[in-house]
Amino acid sequence: MLWGCIELGKVLVTAAWPYINHIPHLGNLLPILSADVIARYYRLKGEETLFVSGSDEHGTPIEVEAIRQNISPKELTDRNHEIVSLLFKKWAISFDNYTRTESEVHKEFVRNVMLSLEKNGYIFVKEDELPYCERCQRFLPDRFIEGKCPYCGYERARGDQCEQCGRLLEPIKLIEPKCTVCGEKPTVKIAKHWYFDMPKFADKLLAYIEGNKRLPENARNFSLNLLKEGLRPRPITRDNKWGIPAPFAGAENKTIYVWFDAVLGYVSATIEYFKKHGDGDRWREYWFDKNARILYFIGKDNIPFHTLILPALLMATHEDYNLPWNVCTNEWLIFAGQKSSKSRRVGIWIDEALEMFPVDYWRYTLIAIRPETKDSDFTWKVFIEKVNADLNDTLGNFIHRTLKFINTYFDSAIPDPMDLDSLDKNMLSTIIEKVKAVDELLENCQLQAALREAIELSRIGNKYLNERKPWETIKLNPQVAANTLYVSAQIVKALSVILEPFIPITIRKLREILSLSEKFSWDDAYKPLPPGHKIKKAEPLFTKVRFSEEDLQSMLEKIRERTEKISYEDFSKVDIRVGRIVEAEAVPGAQNLLKLLIDVGDSLKTAVAGIAKHYRPEDLKGRYVAVVVNLRPRQVFGIESEVMILAAEDEGKIVLLEPSEPVRPGSRVR
Ligand SMILES: [Zn+2]
Ligand SMILES: [Zn+2]
Repeated sequence: MLWGCIELGKVLVTAAWPYINHIPHLGNLLPILSADVIARYYRLKGEETLFVSGSDEHGTPIEVEAIRQNISPKELTDRNHEIVSLLFKKWAISFDNYTRTESEVHKEFVRNVMLSLEKNGYIFVKEDELPYCERCQRFLPDRFIEGKCPYCGYERARGDQCEQCGRLLEPIKLIEPKCTVCGEKPTVKIAKHWYFDMPKFADKLLAYIEGNKRLPENARNFSLNLLKEGLRPRPITRDNKWGIPAPFAGAENKTIYVWFDAVLGYVSATIEYFKKHGDGDRWREYWFDKNARILYFIGKDNIPFHTLILPALLMATHEDYNLPWNVCTNEWLIFAGQKSSKSRRVGIWIDEALEMFPVDYWRYTLIAIRPETKDSDFTWKVFIEKVNADLNDTLGNFIHRTLKFINTYFDSAIPDPMDLDSLDKNMLSTIIEKVKAVDELLENCQLQAALREAIELSRIGNKYLNERKPWETIKLNPQVAANTLYVSAQIVKALSVILEPFIPITIRKLREILSLSEKFSWDDAYKPLPPGHKIKKAEPLFTKVRFSEEDLQSMLEKIRERTEKISYEDFSKVDIRVGRIVEAEAVPGAQNLLKLLIDVGDSLKTAVAGIAKHYRPEDLKGRYVAVVVNLRPRQVFGIESEVMILAAEDEGKIVLLEPSEPVRPGSRVR
């Protein structure tokens, strides 16, 4: 064991909470998939394992996306949470609790932590200069502002963090900043916010990072650099409406910054799990017992939130919470040299992937190329190679040859070995070595190397079969063939254990063919199949991908077209009319909404539109607009919106569509 003798104890496996403004792409899935592999591994090892995560649904990008879709943030996240939860099931992600930041247990926990931080003297109120957009009439935190990173020069750094160098930023320090909604250069205004006094934890955090030898190099170095540069107090409140209300006296209209909210979800998801299972206090065994281990799986942009902010928050409660035992951090997964981007159609989304190939093909490929020490590039070429060469030709072929031979020549029973020679015996000890190697690598969160070792075992098996040629010895010396197949069957048995964390669906099928129980432990990999054990009829576990890279890309495009395009019949149901705005007024309490009264020919209809940042009410009266009139009415900010007006969006700028000359209200738009 690499990290000395580890006592058996509880293991909490967590994955960074996916932000659900969109469906995740394969790169977003990587930490979750990695965590799943490790959770499955620890369960096999017999540790008391709990695997939790949830949808991160507060904060500005959700608000921005909800405005774009003309629905409320809650409607958006209700929908996306359901879709994403289902997709994770299809990806065989074995969560014990996949929850959400809108969960009541979570909101209550966050409020309580905030109050204890305040009580312990780590929260202070400060008036500070913050960027303000005059046109949008709002402060610009986080993703509402972009500019050049003062550290690395990256052009599109956000207000809270630079995506390129990963540093935490303060919006006021951005060079050449602009409002991401309207593009305007912000001014500076004084704002009052509640701050978390991070610097008070600098020494303790340094001791923690230096003392935690398990942290991978990327997480360690990054955190040490930040500590060296000096921590600053972090504003913990926001003026956003969508989030957890700040519980501090005087902060009634503010919410908690989404990152402080989300990282506390690891604790609240554990609490919620045991609450659901009627075991109210048991969450404490994971969070306070000192032999419990908590593992975090994240992408490298999340490092400071897990190695510094979360530990500091936990320390600040003055309770003796367990700090991260390991923060397994992956680098970026890029796509044919580029970053994933929905608008540029770069990348593959987790729903699309499953329409193309079985889930284990993806799970295998993603872990096989898991970016552990540097970014790695997904291309169709790599995918074809991994599926065809590794899964099909090496693993699948070895298993199939072995089982088919036993079906045909040994009446589907594991043959009886006799007088094994040194090569056979070597093979049996190789199994033990490889199982141990995979075990140690997984314990050390080196998933890619662990998978490589496991596949290596099947490669060795193939070589062994080729050398032994049982198809010849079965005629010349049947006992030699029996010995060969006995040994090969033991390799298959070991593979049916150690590959479960990676390709669980295939392994379920394999264990059925082997007539082995669905319930098994890691140690079963060391236990041989007894002679005489009957197996079922062999079936191929994989099929080759017989498409070119171009074919695969166009397959993906077709899926996108199908999901993005609607039929003529569907479109013809949409009734668009010319309308004339009769009245326009701001919606109290909503930053971007206007209430419009529109003449659509036969009647006056109300629309609530997210255009207040782009149009003043007095400029809208008398204007002609295009209006969808046959929508089901919806409540927006307590107002019934009966129709929807159409507008063009250009990088956050909204422009109303209007006829090039006045036409009678009610005229149909075709
Ligand atoms: Zn930067
Ligand atoms: Zn603006």
